[in-house]
Amino acid sequence: ALHNSLVELRGNIRVHCRIRPSLPFDHAAGHSVSQERHRNSLENVAYAIDDETVLVKCSRPGHAPINKTFQFERVYNATESQDTVFADVAPLLTSLLDGYNVCIMAYGQTGSGKTYTMLGPQLEENLAFVNEDESELGIIPRATQELFRLISEKPAGSYWVEVSVVEVYNNEVFDLLAKDSCGKVFGIKRDVVTTREGKSDVPLLTYETVANASEFLHLVIKGLQLRVRHPTLVHAHSSRSHLVVTLTITTIVSGDNFGTSWEDEQINQRLNKEVSCSYPQKRDSRSTSSSRASSPAQLEAAEKLKQVKTRLQLVDLAGSECVGMSGVTGAALRETSCINRSLSALADVLGAIAEQRSHVPYRNSKLTHLLQDSVGGDAKLLVMLCISPSQKYLTESMQSLGFGTRAR
Ligand code: ADP
Ligand code: MG
Repeated sequence: ALHNSLVELRGNIRVHCRIRPSLPFDHAAGHSVSQERHRNSLENVAYAIDDETVLVKCSRPGHAPINKTFQFERVYNATESQDTVFADVAPLLTSLLDGYNVCIMAYGQTGSGKTYTMLGPQLEENLAFVNEDESELGIIPRATQELFRLISEKPAGSYWVEVSVVEVYNNEVFDLLAKDSCGKVFGIKRDVVTTREGKSDVPLLTYETVANASEFLHLVIKGLQLRVRHPTLVHAHSSRSHLVVTLTITTIVSGDNFGTSWEDEQINQRLNKEVSCSYPQKRDSRSTSSSRASSPAQLEAAEKLKQVKTRLQLVDLAGSECVGMSGVTGAALRETSCINRSLSALADVLGAIAEQRSHVPYRNSKLTHLLQDSVGGDAKLLVMLCISPSQKYLTESMQSLGFGTRAR
């Protein structure tokens, strides 16, 4: 509870860092690695020294010793459970229903625990739950469970939830729920909508309405399975594409429900803003209630109804490792430079927000464009840095810790 209140005070971007346990596959020796180098590479170099500090400590022959600490809002050591991690995430779901857009993203090299943290171990490998053990579930299923739990405490029918599942690969967006894309790779469709600020082109994605957490999860699993319909996505290991799951929460609020205090006024203004810049929505019977109002009193009441949309985006980013560019050509080069470009576009966006610059360069990549509404402004962003402890990944870990430090 103390953490959460501290975290709340620190503004809209927070960075948590999770150090995963050492795993057997860390120990696989490379072909050209000497016995000694191999033994060294098993050593842990990244530690959680308290629940806000990471220490990287390493001395290798021929290299300057490293002894550096990094501070984050929260640091998880290897023994901390999915439950513990989610306990710090849960307050964001309350913010979501209070009218804030929220984004939770996992950043780190391939193998650092991003998918484990976001989805859980079973989900990606088996695309289904193989057992009933829910203790290993990651943030995406837990966040949805919590969202529907919170909604169940509200008046019936006042909220509904729509989901889109996309992958961004080579700076192209693949809509994994699109029905007309069988076997075909297609780019993002664009649509122009009018917002309060003028016209803006937004991705027109397939949204499906879900009524509970298990419907949601089936949809995500279906989306992940549909990757096989896109030849490029099959070819691309998931480590090279970004998974973006978006939940749009729509609610009808009555203007009468707002008081006149300054705080209520702020909420009202924010909600008004949210209403005016929404993605295109398919028609829903619940959203047309105002058109059926008949008596003047009813009409007046309906006038005061606002459709409020907030968005939760859950992102499993592509591996952040700097893939060696030497000798890489053709398609592989394009892939490598696209990953590096979209992650550096993300770093640029977070940097611009951190420095409170007036222009935030969202349009430099499809990834940042997709995340535009839930990163920056008064949206709440949680970056979950994932770190492997061993020396083998020292360079990648230092890069990730640097990314997280600059984002704060
Ligand atoms: P990434 O998505 O970043 O490439 P994964 O999430 O696939 O990495 O994690 C790599 C391996 O490490 C997987 O086998 C995963 O189950 C395991 N793993 C990651 N984090 C943890 C953790 N905190 N506890 C236990 N196992 C973990
Ligand atoms: Mg992964």
